[in-house]
Amino acid sequence: MNDKPKLAVFKFSSCAGCQLQIVNLEEYLLDIAALVEISYFVMAKRENADAIYDIGLVEGAVTCGEEIEKIKEVREKCKLLIAFGSCACYGGIPSMKNLVPEREVEKRVYEDVSVIHSTKAFGIDQYVRVDGYLKGCPVDKDELVELIKSALLGVGPNLRPHCVCVECKLRENVCLFVSKGKVCMGSVTSAGCGALCPSLNRPCEGCRGPMNDPNAPSLARTFMEYGLTREDVARKFRKYAGETEAFRKGAEAV
Ligand code: SF4
Ligand code: SF4
Ligand code: SF4
Repeated sequence: MNDKPKLAVFKFSSCAGCQLQIVNLEEYLLDIAALVEISYFVMAKRENADAIYDIGLVEGAVTCGEEIEKIKEVREKCKLLIAFGSCACYGGIPSMKNLVPEREVEKRVYEDVSVIHSTKAFGIDQYVRVDGYLKGCPVDKDELVELIKSALLGVGPNLRPHCVCVECKLRENVCLFVSKGKVCMGSVTSAGCGALCPSLNRPCEGCRGPMNDPNAPSLARTFMEYGLTREDVARKFRKYAGETEAFRKGAEAV
């Protein structure tokens, strides 16, 4: 009898980029497969078991009534439920639509909206209890391995509480914001990506959502001093995590 812990991966409204990071683990995949039974993973397996799972990774925002029911069913089936990626954590990119009336959004996409019942896009904790969050758009592979190891050991993962700027300094990058005037979300954004974008000469766009206790209004005012319009500032804070209280304060500060 197979007594390995069962892992399941579920998709809601998303681009599937976070699930793809599991497949991209490559050098770790055989080790992971030796330790857990990948019971449900539609992207990667033809046959998927309907069961009680030890670890459930949920990708994507909840954006319709059908998904509200589905996330409740998934919660019932998973002993440990992880919001997997910024869409599942905060609503992510789909939540950009939340400021526009829902019917208007539907009409932009569908000719006949009579059978469409979409809702505002929220992270999964709007509807169910969540045991952990793995941020990122997409999630970071090292953090994913850390999460799986921690889950198997029954301890909390060692995820970073500080901002991207700390990792940027650890990589000895010259600050793009201070030295080149490129407006950067790094000082309010949760670390864990290794300052990926600034290390490639691109400012941080805030894809991992807010760090612990950020001062988003202060950064919003600084963005204005650097020439951004109010609308530009709001867009910066609403792109990935506009439904979080911290980034909403940034979007509404100026
Ligand atoms: S968080 Fe980003 S990469 Fe992951 S599913 Fe959402 S849009 Fe795709
Ligand atoms: S480039 Fe961005 S992330 Fe790096 S130190 Fe400057 S503000 Fe922080
Ligand atoms: S630097 Fe910012 S935008 Fe780039 S991956 Fe990290 S958190 Fe996301």
